[in-house]
Amino acid sequence: MIRTVVCEKEGCSGNTFFLETQGNNLVLTCEHCKGKYEFDISYYDFIILSNCSKCNNDTFKVFRDTEKEGIYAKCVECGSTPEKIYIDSDGIQVSYEAKLLNDIKEIMYLLEQRICNLEVKLQDLESSQGILEESLAYINRYLVEKN
Ligand SMILES: [Zn+2]
Ligand SMILES: [Zn+2]
Repeated sequence: MIRTVVCEKEGCSGNTFFLETQGNNLVLTCEHCKGKYEFDISYYDFIILSNCSKCNNDTFKVFRDTEKEGIYAKCVECGSTPEKIYIDSDGIQVSYEAKLLNDIKEIMYLLEQRICNLEVKLQDLESSQGILEESLAYINRYLVEKN
């Protein structure tokens, strides 16, 4: 179930937060009482930034998935998600587009490898077929000579 995160501090029921990533945690700061909440987001392969990816606003409504790991933020102004930065395989921070491009490159590379493997297998098959034909010819000759 997706639940809206609501501030639990006494006398506050704010549901808009500032976001900040600190190490493995996403820190939410209630816009009204400045109360802080930490969520472990080490399972994400990206860093959530403090501003909206579309309008640059910095307050968000936050939602949690109560069944599986997951925390989502929506800009209060335009409903977009916060800006994210991805970490590529070399540990370098890249934009979402750059990560996507890298992922595609990796998939292309894997595909190429698989095609290479297939070609090798095909060659093996061809040469084993050659051996088989040779053996058959040998057996035939043997049988012919015997009779
Ligand atoms: Zn609050
Ligand atoms: Zn926005």
